Amino acid sequence: MNKLHLSEEEIQQYALGRADLSTKEHIRSCAFCEARAADYRLIFSELDQLPKPAFDFNVASLVLAQLPQPETSLDRRERWIYLLVFAALASIGIPVYLFRIYFFKMFTDILPEAMYLVILVTLFLLVFQGVEMFRKYQKQINTLNYK
Ligand SMILES: [Zn+2]
Repeated sequence: MNKLHLSEEEIQQYALGRADLSTKEHIRSCAFCEARAADYRLIFSELDQLPKPAFDFNVASLVLAQLPQPETSLDRRERWIYLLVFAALASIGIPVYLFRIYFFKMFTDILPEAMYLVILVTLFLLVFQGVEMFRKYQKQINTLNYK
């Protein structure tokens, strides 16, 4: 051993039962360090018997009182989004309603094979986009759940 006695940290580890072999050997042969370890064991046992600290007031109610209250009415940004959605639907729906005769006649003049091709490509793109969206959602959920 290149030093005379153990450090405070080594003795505390011994008193907690987490010492390595050289520390145990030193304590077996040294009365001074054995006495210090006994002091630490006494301190640790007294600390274990102390009651757990607890607040004498309700922490949750104090914290909740400090939090900002959620707004019940729609804020301006949400109103803008609803207005844009309505405008988009109206810009599609009104012309379809006004030109409905020509609109449905437009599809009767297309070759059936071309129509099937358009439908097939559209379905393929929708399925592909849906699968991608679902994978991205699962990845984000797994990140949030620490998986
Ligand atoms: Zn010693």
